[in-house]
Amino acid sequence: MMPGESPKQKGGQPGIVSAALSGSCPRCGAKTLFAQPAGLADECSACGLDLLALERGGRFVGVLTMLLALALILAALAVDEWLRPPLWATLLFWLPVTAGSVLFVLRFYKTLWVYHSYEERPR
Ligand SMILES: [Zn+2]
Repeated sequence: MMPGESPKQKGGQPGIVSAALSGSCPRCGAKTLFAQPAGLADECSACGLDLLALERGGRFVGVLTMLLALALILAALAVDEWLRPPLWATLLFWLPVTAGSVLFVLRFYKTLWVYHSYEERPR
């Protein structure tokens, strides 16, 4: 017996990061959430859950991602001013960092949104 343990606690879902990384369906847990690296599938190919309907209203995700990309570009410019690295070094470092962060944040927020919509969906 572990005190204070509740595996299905609302709000503090511990598996959300791994769910975002693997793209697990909120209903059946199959890895069907993403049709593209950062694009949700229309529906779960395993259980038929309508992901498009769940994603509706989650458009602010794109705004958040734009803000993150902007912040990273500003950081890149600041480092550029400070260290004055050669251009190839700047690109070599910042392109994967920016692409990776944006991709992860997109997946993370989309997964978060789908899970939230799935829990709050009208029945
Ligand atoms: Zn499913």
